[in-house]
Amino acid sequence: MMNITIPYVKVKFDEFNRLIFSGRLPEIQVQLSNAKTFLGQCVCKKRLAADGRPEYYDFKLKINTRITLSDQELEDTIIHEMIHYYIALNRLEDVSSHGPVFIRLMNEINRNFHRHISVSFRGTQAQREEAVDTRSRYHVVAVVLFADGSSGIKVLPRILPKILNYHRGILKDKRVSQVQFYMSNHPFFNRFPCSSALKVHLLKQSDFIDYLCDAQKIEDILPVLCSSSKITGRYSFSSIRSSFNV
Ligand SMILES: [Zn+2]
Repeated sequence: MMNITIPYVKVKFDEFNRLIFSGRLPEIQVQLSNAKTFLGQCVCKKRLAADGRPEYYDFKLKINTRITLSDQELEDTIIHEMIHYYIALNRLEDVSSHGPVFIRLMNEINRNFHRHISVSFRGTQAQREEAVDTRSRYHVVAVVLFADGSSGIKVLPRILPKILNYHRGILKDKRVSQVQFYMSNHPFFNRFPCSSALKVHLLKQSDFIDYLCDAQKIEDILPVLCSSSKITGRYSFSSIRSSFNV
């Protein structure tokens, strides 16, 4: 589906409202988005109602136009957001955004209307590539090697004290055997958050090493500068996002 437009989304909303929700969903404001991380979103404001329970208002349906979806994927995304809309409007309590209430409604709709709605959309390789920022920008990439053979990376700002802090903080963990720093402008690294947080994105070396082949290694000036140790930060691991939120 190329060239998604607001009128098109509204037509689909009306169609599924009649077909699936008996026409009970009020008209909703539709926005298109170029975001990299979600396919659809149903956003709203929250206030306390007279009965003391939260109520939701000012709903907006956001649909992603960055990632090329098939007609079916786009329709399933719209219906997915309509389930969120239905749950919030009716103040159905669920334990999380895709909790048992959501799943029950989703499964019912999939069964009755032959849809393929899911709670996370992994996408094809091509769709994941569309989510990537392809601008060429220089980053400092820390490659963290662990004693057990695993590895990871962290994209850092190009600010020496922040690089030093990261180096010092990460080496405090006995599981870390080595940290190397590179300057790279490969767009592959754009997908990782650039910050000085003490984090490591776990990644097999074979999954990133090719992107560093023409990177410039930042030589070992760092250990010399890192003798003082004021840093006591803890760091955390995360796996890279490989699916889109819906
Ligand atoms: Zn959702």
